[in-house]
Amino acid sequence: MTIYNFSAGPSVLPEEVKKQVQRDFLDYNGSGMSVTEMSHRSKAYDDIHNEAMSLLRELMNIGSDYEVMFIQGGASQQFAMVPLNFSEKKRADYILTGNWSNKAFEEASRYTDAVAAASSKDQKYTYIPDLDKITFRDNLDYVHITQNNTIFGTRYTSLPKVDCPIVADASSNILSEVIDVNKYGAIYAGAQKNIGPAGVTIAIVRKDMLARTPLEFCPTMLKYSTFADNNSLYNTPPCFAIYMAMLTFRWVKKLGGVSEMQKNNEYKAGLLYDYLDSSDMFKNPVAKKDRSLMNVPFVTDSEELNKKFLSEATANGFISLKGHKILGGMRASIYNAMPVEGVKALIEFMKKFELENK
Ligand SMILES: *Cc1c(COP(=O)(O)O)cnc(C)c1O
Repeated sequence: MTIYNFSAGPSVLPEEVKKQVQRDFLDYNGSGMSVTEMSHRSKAYDDIHNEAMSLLRELMNIGSDYEVMFIQGGASQQFAMVPLNFSEKKRADYILTGNWSNKAFEEASRYTDAVAAASSKDQKYTYIPDLDKITFRDNLDYVHITQNNTIFGTRYTSLPKVDCPIVADASSNILSEVIDVNKYGAIYAGAQKNIGPAGVTIAIVRKDMLARTPLEFCPTMLKYSTFADNNSLYNTPPCFAIYMAMLTFRWVKKLGGVSEMQKNNEYKAGLLYDYLDSSDMFKNPVAKKDRSLMNVPFVTDSEELNKKFLSEATANGFISLKGHKILGGMRASIYNAMPVEGVKALIEFMKKFELENK
């Protein structure tokens, strides 16, 4: 039976990448060693590290006025690093569009005067607030957004118009759609959704943001400058996760880059939303214009039917479709590495289930 993994994260990785990892595991490039065993100061690792950096720059078209950093601690650690490093005036506005932005906001509130400029909580985070109607404060250090909301299945298709830098959590949409990096002061993303195994977090920070003085008590390992000044090799980096990220970057490049990923993702998500909109049994609650390309939540109108669906789906090889615990129901995460056939097979399965359970 073919297994299709719809997990929200850690999530499906390209078959080709996993096969390469398998081939490399005992003997990387004739070194007689696994990447897990190599000194992070060795030539072999250095090549991996630098190729990963330069491929990411190429794929996202990142200019020389930005630093690219590989950090540990996940996106959750970025929730703290952002206010610790960027707070000069100690004023930041946050747009609250779900669990992750709320966590980022709560963490920032420990270090800066953070204010929720807008929220979509009133309709259970099923939409992105109208950006033109938000009143931001003056004199802000930054505005923070969660670009794709992994749990609620929404995404931004435009950015707020502000005269301070925008900082974005792109954990679940990085490399899935073209992002104009020049519009941001900083972008961060955990790797385990679209890039590789958990353990490495990408931070892309404009150099004028890096020049800000971190809060006085900020630990060395939470300063972006510690990473930027040392090519992310101040201490031992998550070498193996970075190596796998490099392989995924090669794979994205080979398939035509991020714009090709986006086309493919729009196609896959389109198939699924079209079916959901035509179904009498399954519904996606998200405002159409704000629907995520990566995470598609859906429900039936009965808890019992949800359960039955999930158990039959699992038995048929459609894995990890259970919705996040705060939302219930189902969620199909269809990241870059989910093949079109996986989405088509899921839709066929849902159609069949719908017929059988009328
Ligand atoms: C998964 C996720 C996080 C949390 O990432 P960790 O690496 O587990 O800290 C934060 N934000 C978004 C948008 C996510 O999808």
